[in-house]
Amino acid sequence: MTPQKPKIRFAPSPTGKLHVGNVRTAVIVWLAVKKLGGTFLLRLDDTDVERSKEEYAEAIQRDLTWLGLEWDEFARQRDRQDRYDACIQKLKDDGRLYACYETPEELALKRKSLLSRGLPPIYDRAALELSDEQKAKYEAEGRSPHWRFLLNYDPIEWDDLIRGPVKFEGKDLADPVLIREDGTPLYHLCSVIDDIDFDITHIIRGEDHVTNTATHIQMFEALGAKPPLCAHLSLISDAAGGKLSKRIGSLGIETLREEKKLNPMAILSYLALLGTSMPIEAVRDRQKLIDTFDFSNFSRSTPKFDEEELYRLNTKLLQETAFEEIKPHLQQANLEQVDEAFWLAVRSNIENLEDVREWWRVAHGPVTPEIEDADFAKAAAALLPSGDWDENTWNVWINDVKEQTGRKGKQLFMPIRKALTGMEHGPELPVLLSLIGRAEAESRLKGQTKNAA
Ligand code: GLU
Repeated sequence: MTPQKPKIRFAPSPTGKLHVGNVRTAVIVWLAVKKLGGTFLLRLDDTDVERSKEEYAEAIQRDLTWLGLEWDEFARQRDRQDRYDACIQKLKDDGRLYACYETPEELALKRKSLLSRGLPPIYDRAALELSDEQKAKYEAEGRSPHWRFLLNYDPIEWDDLIRGPVKFEGKDLADPVLIREDGTPLYHLCSVIDDIDFDITHIIRGEDHVTNTATHIQMFEALGAKPPLCAHLSLISDAAGGKLSKRIGSLGIETLREEKKLNPMAILSYLALLGTSMPIEAVRDRQKLIDTFDFSNFSRSTPKFDEEELYRLNTKLLQETAFEEIKPHLQQANLEQVDEAFWLAVRSNIENLEDVREWWRVAHGPVTPEIEDADFAKAAAALLPSGDWDENTWNVWINDVKEQTGRKGKQLFMPIRKALTGMEHGPELPVLLSLIGRAEAESRLKGQTKNAA
């Protein structure tokens, strides 16, 4: 038998937008696919008709495309009802699905009673005892059944690619509900059927699915299939160790793209390396992330999401960006006046493109010089070096000013900064001086505001 070509799916529900929590799974699925030379299936788990929305389905695809996480195949669960119906029939014929008539209130009561006795809230399988008359009576009352999967009371084991050997006992698990009262199948069933039909070789998802996986393994077997390999990622917590979900709104991919103007590689680098044994660093080249990807790099402990660190990676990438690459972004930000020489001079001093705007303004005006001591400023102006200016000009000049005026430290730098920029804080003077140029520096030191608006 030829070995199966790796195929991994990312299966978001289009009931909301992508955020750092769920897109991390997408990043890791994509990296694993590339590393293993496999196929990436994007599957929309949209069986929840009420909560699934077309706008979310579109937003998910837009965000993944922007991140560069291209997929090879696409599927939607709502197109696959016929297959689900056929499998449901098989499971019913094989006695693996049974009808239950409890109302949500009755189930909540059972749960409460078990918990109050210190017992795990596992469904008691009372429905298995119902006679045909009792079922007919419920139906006559207008109750429609939901259907549960009958688990075998056997041990369930798998070797998780991240968690190592995992073991459950069938008897410690509740029979999962696979079909709702309205007859629609639930995620568990659809997911397993799709994983079988699309020849999925690896399931990568959050550790909140570990118990689901245990029940899914029996479903794979009941449908005559071998379960895929599984990797369960630890869930990310917020910086304080709490649930990330509370802050998820502001950490949406759309916000990071449109408001925070992040480079997708900052997000990719951060989410690829978070929770692994590798240092978190800004990586420009996706191939580097692919090459270092390995399931064994992932830790079982809960990684903390640090928004500031994400922004630091972004700054790092921005500061290394070539002019050709940044040009369209500068244009988009109405900074088309910025040329390559200016970009190269300022890039290592900025955190975002707004800083570029400020550098440009300070270099080219309008600036209203603030002169504290006109004699000192004039003396400094007279010492401005002649000839071509380069990155060394500042040092030559400031040493001369220091020697000639006897000033040093703040007494030296602050009046010069205020004269050149009109501000107490701002861009680094050594870089700035060469951008301002000799003529303009001289007139600012002389208090002339020719460039001021
Ligand atoms: N739609 C499920 C979720 O978003 C998919 C989980 C899985 O990967 O099976 O949680």
